[in-house]
Amino acid sequence: MKIDLKPCPYCGGIAKGHIKTVESFKKIHNYYVVCTKCGASTERYDTEFAYSINGKRFRPMTKKEAAEKAVCDWNNGIFDTKTRLLHMTEQEKILWHTADLLKVAWHGVNVLVGSLRWETAWKLRKMAEERKLLCLSSGKDYDLEVVADELLHDDTVRCIVCNYLEEIRNSQEDSANGNG
Ligand SMILES: [Zn+2]
Repeated sequence: MKIDLKPCPYCGGIAKGHIKTVESFKKIHNYYVVCTKCGASTERYDTEFAYSINGKRFRPMTKKEAAEKAVCDWNNGIFDTKTRLLHMTEQEKILWHTADLLKVAWHGVNVLVGSLRWETAWKLRKMAEERKLLCLSSGKDYDLEVVADELLHDDTVRCIVCNYLEEIRNSQEDSANGNG
């Protein structure tokens, strides 16, 4: 089957479809599209885990669907988190991380208790609650990007998030240098 992939929107490079097999509890094939030049990539889709396709009920995708989803994402400019973060402005990054941290403390995302991520997330949640931007008893389904945006008007919050980003950058550099 011949599929047309648009050139990479970031660098104009040629995109290629990939299948990567990961050995976990069983062999899992991941389908994704990646730029051969800069490495921009879509999310990886597999045929084991359930996805909600077009808003329908969750079920695993067929190989064809997984491959098509990756191609469709690529051609529509939908990339994985790593790629998106790489191309965000500093402002967008701060907003993204703030919302991400709020998700940790609000939805109880699986994060190591006591880690910097955990501590920062809870600090932000507390501040959001103090400002009545979040209220558990309201039962509301919050858009945490909106809450993050609101919260970032406060310099203290901005400071907390910037320090957090600094810390994770440093620790990433450490591990890249083999000092981790
Ligand atoms: Zn590229």
